[in-house]
Amino acid sequence: MPSQLTYDVFVAEPIPQNVREPIPNGERRMFSPLSITLISGENDAVLVDPPLTIEQTEQVAGWVEASGKNLTHVFATHGHGDHWFGGAQLAERFGATFVATPGTIEQMRLNVALRPVFWDALFPGQIPQTDVTAVPAVDNMIELEGHQLFVVEVGHSDTDDTSVLHVPALSLVVAGDVVYNGVHQFLREAAGDGIKRWHEAIDAVAALEPRYIVTGHKNEQLDDAADRTIAETRSYLNAAAELLTQEDTALGFFNAMLQRFPDRLNAGALWGSATALYPEPA
Ligand SMILES: [Zn+2]
Repeated sequence: MPSQLTYDVFVAEPIPQNVREPIPNGERRMFSPLSITLISGENDAVLVDPPLTIEQTEQVAGWVEASGKNLTHVFATHGHGDHWFGGAQLAERFGATFVATPGTIEQMRLNVALRPVFWDALFPGQIPQTDVTAVPAVDNMIELEGHQLFVVEVGHSDTDDTSVLHVPALSLVVAGDVVYNGVHQFLREAAGDGIKRWHEAIDAVAALEPRYIVTGHKNEQLDDAADRTIAETRSYLNAAAELLTQEDTALGFFNAMLQRFPDRLNAGALWGSATALYPEPA
């Protein structure tokens, strides 16, 4: 008989970015909190979305060690560096296999290429060595003590080629950045039909009918209720789509979104979205 599965989430606290200028509401520019998920059986475990920096990777390694579980797989939902840069080191340390979809592996390479101008600029000297060691999961499936964990490709959400991990035994989806939970959503890649395609990615998650969703960025005070997180992620996208037609400037969009979503964490992420959606004329 397969063993009972459980899941735990490690939330890495927001860290400051190497940006001197405050955002329009006066806050320092921070990075959103990161959720790292450990799905455990009796002896073995699978880790989803390793963190970004050397220090966070050390903390997560200590957390996995303290669990006493044997880590068999590390899985990354998508190619943004905040969901995998520590992955190769964690996989090596625990003798685990690092897996991701072929599309995500391609996005990983693009994020490595972006390191000098983006990731290292924001976090100088803090990012680990980022060799792309992930391989595709055989049959889009990870086995954990007789249970099947399914890698589900959902296309564009907050970036291209994103995926989620479905754990039917727990009625759980580990959703990466397809669904958010109490944190401002990353809309820097939402221009064109990005918001429409993001809704389609959420449709794919909803079709799995999970009871719980661990989101890649969550306010740790909040629970993992699937219905609520899906509804809130959609309402944020709908508000953004509506305000994009009403507001003429990045600042106007930022202020209007902040007014509608005053409780979401990390207004800096919203300012990042606003400045990308309203590019300065060259
Ligand atoms: Zn992210």
